[in-house]
Amino acid sequence: MDKVILIKYGELSTKKANRSFFINTLYKNICNKLRDYNVHIHKDRARMYIEFQEEDLDSIKSIIDNIFGIHSYHIATIVSSDDSQIQNKLLNLVSSLEFHTFKIETKRSNKSFPIHSQDYNRVLGGLLLKNISSISVDVHHPDLWIKVEIRDKETFIYFNKFDGLGGYPVGTQPGALLMLSGGIDSPVSGYLAMKRGIKLNCVYFEAMPHTSIEARNKVIELSKKLVNYTDSIHLHIVNFTPIQESIYKYCRHDYLITIMRRMMYRIMEKLCIKYNCFAVVNGESIGQVASQTLTSMRVINEVTNIPVIRPLACFDKLEIMEIARKINTYDISIIPYEDCCTVFVPRHPVINPRLDVCLKEEEKFDYESLIDEAISSLNTISINSSLESEFSDLL
Ligand code: ATP
Ligand code: MG
Repeated sequence: MDKVILIKYGELSTKKANRSFFINTLYKNICNKLRDYNVHIHKDRARMYIEFQEEDLDSIKSIIDNIFGIHSYHIATIVSSDDSQIQNKLLNLVSSLEFHTFKIETKRSNKSFPIHSQDYNRVLGGLLLKNISSISVDVHHPDLWIKVEIRDKETFIYFNKFDGLGGYPVGTQPGALLMLSGGIDSPVSGYLAMKRGIKLNCVYFEAMPHTSIEARNKVIELSKKLVNYTDSIHLHIVNFTPIQESIYKYCRHDYLITIMRRMMYRIMEKLCIKYNCFAVVNGESIGQVASQTLTSMRVINEVTNIPVIRPLACFDKLEIMEIARKINTYDISIIPYEDCCTVFVPRHPVINPRLDVCLKEEEKFDYESLIDEAISSLNTISINSSLESEFSDLL
């Protein structure tokens, strides 16, 4: 094999003390994602290298494009660190490319290679100018930026740069639970949380028979899109019907959503403890709906001390939709099925709820035991990245 995918880490290279932890996590993630391919992967402090079968290149690239922690990568051609072989190979590679201007950048870590980097730039540049007509050197804005890295035994030649997703490798932060509804926002917030290295599992609150199996399937489909960025996702499905019906029956209707969301947060906190998770992630965006005014958020958040991460807090809907399209969740999210929030939505939800009113309303039914029941009857679906999803006792 005379080619290798050369991966540059980007942001994680600034993490001094944790550097090897970050690199090892990225290495594990890449090995896991490429486990079905005939590849050989190795790493050093600056780079990772994937030797691959030529016929797999396109599918490997599409997998790498979804792995957080990769700043950029190149497809490099390998040749032995011998002047005439480097010259032959470079000429051969460049002859098939279309360009008018070029720049050569040689890096020589092999100090026994007899020609210094700057001099070798001139040697190789002269070679190209002599053999290819109507090209010239442009050191500022070249059409083709040729990199030549001369190492002990091998030399890497590459031109093309592919951008990675950036961020930190998933697993460099502990676990968190994403509140995943069928809407546009929550999958996007899950994607952004994973970008920071958070290992996510998901929680979906459903209220059958007021919500449908199709609404649940939508959430499963969204989880399948999110699993492209991690190794696996557990989707926990909470039967929210008894709680919602009780709120509807006993509480002031303008406070339905506020109290419903306080119940969700109470359940999320218990699930975080149960699954050893450090935070809740959701798709709330300030001002988007009545339950997402700052006053509402404060009153709702009051039931828990666990950090609630809201990656979209300050995003506009249009910005959120743009990311949703990029991660292929948008078309699923806009399929119109009722969610538990929309089924029980009051005509005039309170915009500035009061804590004392919530507490008074919540005294009207025994929500603690309903919460315990919801947690003990949890259904969990495992969704894996490369295998078909395994559905545990569901569907
Ligand atoms: P989205 O915000 O994802 O577009 P939505 O508009 O139905 O969906 P909101 O009413 O804006 O949801 O609720 C804010 C956030 O609360 C959601 O982004 C999601 O994280 C969480 N949430 C709402 N409904 C549910 C649900 N049924 N199950 C799990 N989480 C939910
Ligand atoms: Mg929303």
